[in-house]
Amino acid sequence: MNQEIVKELRVISLRNGAELSVEADRIKDILPKLERGGFIDVNGEIVNAKDIVGIFTPQAMEDIIRRKNGQWKDKKGRWQDKGSRECPTCGNILPWGMRCGNCGGR
Ligand SMILES: [Zn+2]
Repeated sequence: MNQEIVKELRVISLRNGAELSVEADRIKDILPKLERGGFIDVNGEIVNAKDIVGIFTPQAMEDIIRRKNGQWKDKKGRWQDKGSRECPTCGNILPWGMRCGNCGGR
């Protein structure tokens, strides 16, 4: 059996939209440098501490990007595209500008 150890990752999000993935274990080394400010080395990338927006799990980062792109989560926790909406009558997801195919609601 080929059991690969998957390292847990964190994503450092920068003001300019760049994202740097680092092993979660390394965050504890990076944090004190962040608090000191100035330039820090992240896997060989030199980053200005004040340009860091936050450090997120890959899952949280994906959610942030989806929301930024206008997607939204329905009641069942599924992502829906920008412009789509729930039918007020039956809860069916309607693409932008469409009537409900289930119940004819609008
Ligand atoms: Zn409906």
